[in-house]
Amino acid sequence: MIKPAQRAIYAVIGDPVGHSLSPVMMNRAFQEESCPACYLAFQANDTVADLQLLHQVGISGLSVTIPHKEAALRICEQVDATAKTIGAVNTLQRTVSGWQGCNTDWLGVVRALQQKARLESRNMLVVGAGGAARAVVYGLLKAGCRVTITNRSPDKALRMAEEFHCRFVALGEVMGQRYDGLVHCTPVGMVGNEERLLVPKEIFAPGMLVMDAVYRPLWTPLLKCAADAGCITVTGLEMLLYQGAAQFEWWWKKKAPVAAMKRALEDALKGEDHA
Ligand code: NAP
Repeated sequence: MIKPAQRAIYAVIGDPVGHSLSPVMMNRAFQEESCPACYLAFQANDTVADLQLLHQVGISGLSVTIPHKEAALRICEQVDATAKTIGAVNTLQRTVSGWQGCNTDWLGVVRALQQKARLESRNMLVVGAGGAARAVVYGLLKAGCRVTITNRSPDKALRMAEEFHCRFVALGEVMGQRYDGLVHCTPVGMVGNEERLLVPKEIFAPGMLVMDAVYRPLWTPLLKCAADAGCITVTGLEMLLYQGAAQFEWWWKKKAPVAAMKRALEDALKGEDHA
């Protein structure tokens, strides 16, 4: 049996993962709280084999990102009920013989939004029907919102709306109703991706609560439009921060140093074009 001799090792696995800000955020948290651990990033392309290998070398805990979240859930020895409902895990904790999993993405989005506004009874539109959208829908419903889902592939959004007992609207018909919040959960607007908006910019109105899960760039085309229209805006970096804080708390059973983690993220993004 091989295992780290001095410090516990934590890491994020993903593909691609080179752009991940989790290492700077988590290493700052470990340092701030004097945790005897370090946090790395591993490019991984085979969920099952790579998780087995990481267990064998004694990794203590993992953050899991695209495209491993669903497959990681399937190989966990234990998974909490929330992650099962969402259908994905983003956090793994080592057990003697395998991995225990949970999902903190839903907490990330709820806590990020709650910093800016009350969520209860808010009529929210979720754009997207992938893994992030599932966590967002779960979190918004838990927080007492009314939720409508729209997506490029309508069948997927329709199925999700049925599963979560919320409403569906076709992407071309989103202007048929007034929403007081919107969370965008697709890669559109991300660096290297399409720059267009999936919803008409006329959807944004003063006081509406708008978040983009994309955080590179920090000020996505969607968030810029929302800010111009007088909306309350929340960046994807806030979601990353709060889902990471919840991971830290699950691993270490103590409060996360959120302010230090936030500073680490902001430092890492300094110099990138956010305007
Ligand atoms: P995913 O499971 O692959 O789902 C992607 C979603 O985006 C699907 O609904 C897909 O629609 C839609 N989509 C993809 N390309 C599109 C395009 N060109 N036009 C219209 N719709 C498109 O991915 P995910 O895990 O949900 O992640 C979505 C985004 O959220 C990513 O950018 C990710 O980086 C971000 N995210 C951020 C955080 C954070 O902490 N800030 C956490 C998780 C994810 P179809 O169903 O039609 O394919």
